[in-house]
Amino acid sequence: MSKIIISAVIRGAHKIVNNASQKLDDAIAKYGPQQEIGFPDTAYFLPIIYSLMGMPVKNLKDAKSVMDRCIEMLPPVPAEKHHLPYLGPGLDAGLATLFAEEIFEAIRILEQPDFYLYSEDIIDKSSQNIWVGPANDIILRKRGVEFVDGSAPGFAAIVGSAPSVEEACALAHEYQTKNLYVFIAARDIEGKTSFAEQLVEGGMQIGWPTRLVPFGPDISAAVFALGFACRAAMAFGGIKPGAALKNLIYNKDRVFAFVNALSEIPDEWYANAAGAINWGFPTITTQDIPQVLPTGICTYEHVVSNVPFKEIGPKSIEVRGLKVVITEVPIPVAFGPAFEGERVRKDELRSQCGGGKTLAVEWVTSKRMDEVEDGKVELIGPDLDSVKEGGALPLAILVEVAGRNFQADFEPILERQIHHLVNYVQGIMHMGQRDIAWYRFGKSAVEKGFRLEHIGKLLHAKFHQDFGAVFDKVQIKLFTEKEKVEEIANQARKVYSERDARVEGMTDETTDIFYSCTLCQSFAPTHVCVVSPERTGLCGAYNWMDCKASNEINPTGPNQPVAKGECTDERYGQFAGVNEFVQKASRQAINSVSFYSLLVDPMTTCGCCECIAAILPMCNGVMTVHRDYTGETPCGMKFTTLAGTAGGGLQSPGFVGHSKYNICQRKYLLGDGGLLRLVWMPKSLKEELRERLVKRGEEMGYPNLIDMIADETVGVTEDEIYPFLEEKGHPALKLESIL
Ligand code: SF4
Ligand code: ZN
Repeated sequence: MSKIIISAVIRGAHKIVNNASQKLDDAIAKYGPQQEIGFPDTAYFLPIIYSLMGMPVKNLKDAKSVMDRCIEMLPPVPAEKHHLPYLGPGLDAGLATLFAEEIFEAIRILEQPDFYLYSEDIIDKSSQNIWVGPANDIILRKRGVEFVDGSAPGFAAIVGSAPSVEEACALAHEYQTKNLYVFIAARDIEGKTSFAEQLVEGGMQIGWPTRLVPFGPDISAAVFALGFACRAAMAFGGIKPGAALKNLIYNKDRVFAFVNALSEIPDEWYANAAGAINWGFPTITTQDIPQVLPTGICTYEHVVSNVPFKEIGPKSIEVRGLKVVITEVPIPVAFGPAFEGERVRKDELRSQCGGGKTLAVEWVTSKRMDEVEDGKVELIGPDLDSVKEGGALPLAILVEVAGRNFQADFEPILERQIHHLVNYVQGIMHMGQRDIAWYRFGKSAVEKGFRLEHIGKLLHAKFHQDFGAVFDKVQIKLFTEKEKVEEIANQARKVYSERDARVEGMTDETTDIFYSCTLCQSFAPTHVCVVSPERTGLCGAYNWMDCKASNEINPTGPNQPVAKGECTDERYGQFAGVNEFVQKASRQAINSVSFYSLLVDPMTTCGCCECIAAILPMCNGVMTVHRDYTGETPCGMKFTTLAGTAGGGLQSPGFVGHSKYNICQRKYLLGDGGLLRLVWMPKSLKEELRERLVKRGEEMGYPNLIDMIADETVGVTEDEIYPFLEEKGHPALKLESIL
């Protein structure tokens, strides 16, 4: 702790302990040592003293022995230049402060029984007294359990007053939306107003029901907040009275609490803040005081100062490492799995993005903590209602995530969520991923006010709900201007290929575990992807690494480890463990699948596949076509027709969906002859994969294989391409008959 702060802490502690000690002596003189004291309707006596020292303070005599202990605990006030390198003396002074304040408050309650309301009702402008005082055990049971079951992540203890009534209300509201309790104590240094009085003046309803709890007008009311936390640990955490360290650690780990000092800080507040650090509750303040940043007792920093008022909420949440729980998805239409399977048909279509009409790209990327403002959503460019009915916009969705525990490995997992989350919106349909996404917005949704920014809002809410454990902040940028969309797509494509390459060195033989993916079962109920190192998911968005990371984040989710078991067919790549899994996961619709064949038990295909391969019997080979290519192909079907034929979760021998990346993986259709069978693919796909196609061709003994593969410039029927294959000496023509 900074020595300036530590001096203030110790000075403040001396003032508080002296004052309380004086009050106690006066009370003993007046009422006698046997006079009973305590907080009303509680079995926990003076709870901080009881929980940490194990002493039930029942009367003034008990209080006296605690007070003597407080005086012993007080370190001497350091001389200005004296250097105190350790936190220790400050923490002890802080505890002595809190013990003394509990006694002070107990004597006040003895002398002024009406000082506090002890009420669990709403307090507003019509209330004479606004201060509730310590919670009784009924309130503790009802509210304290919320800290344990997670419905309230913790509390913000606010001391002092905001610069204005409006700012006070805005901050309180911000904490309310994060489900936090706000525990309020202490008027500002001049005693003019407090945060609680500002809220009432601003027309807000305060009190336990709205989680804005005005404990008391003095700093000593801070003990009601800390005492509440101590009692919760005893009542719900099974912590015994006197088990000080256990109680402090329980609170540090379970209750996300912090102190906000909003106005000028007197020594007494420093002393209380130092007390709170014992529980791991840091102080975040707008005031210009020295920071205390080492991360020892608190989860993160101890004192963070000079925070601009409007950033105090987000900063506090960040410092304390609070996991935000957002229960509502703030969009103007219904949302939920019930809407996942609905379609947006042609006459219902209001606007669309992607799907071959325009470019639509989705990219989740990680940033530094200070680069992300949680919940910020920006639309750069025109919105859905600006195009004519049925018209299209380009779209880039850039999701920037930050978190102290966030790993780049999690980016593709969050990115892939966009697919089903957008489909959860009533009246909106989503297909594809990465740079081949397709959004269809229905008229009814747009009429109800759905706009592009709502995609950002729902991603913010749902990412926090579902993945809050792995990140802290997320902001979303949506671009709808062509140039910018292309720029983002180019950046994203580089990252996509880096992600793909992470499984490059792995083989199917080197792992016993493959991963399932059943994310697409809402569309194709019998569809199961089984992802091995050498066969990435057919959507191209999930490879083996991604599935593994996804399983770590969400062990009961759609990506389950599948022990591959005995290899029952080496050529086609069949595994006993995989087949068993697929039978179960497809609800007995599919009995066996091959990893390396489109002829024998090919894997099922859903609507997400990046490419579809099909047999070309006359050429003794196979072709593949990717989603972006809308022209004719030599199998007689365009991509969309193929997707209709082969997709939907059924096994269709002769066809298989696969990712672009899979084409150059070593096991691609290996049971059918591998890459040497590939006789046709669209030119654009060939160019996209050029480098890897050349490399894989070399490995297979055909360095110029790429030039032997026909494309649409050669022809789009088997008759048209056959002579080309013959002329080039394509190896497929020499392989065993594909039929
Ligand atoms: Fe998962 Fe397969 Fe759907 Fe991709 S296509 S999300 S791997 S089920
Ligand atoms: Zn799918």
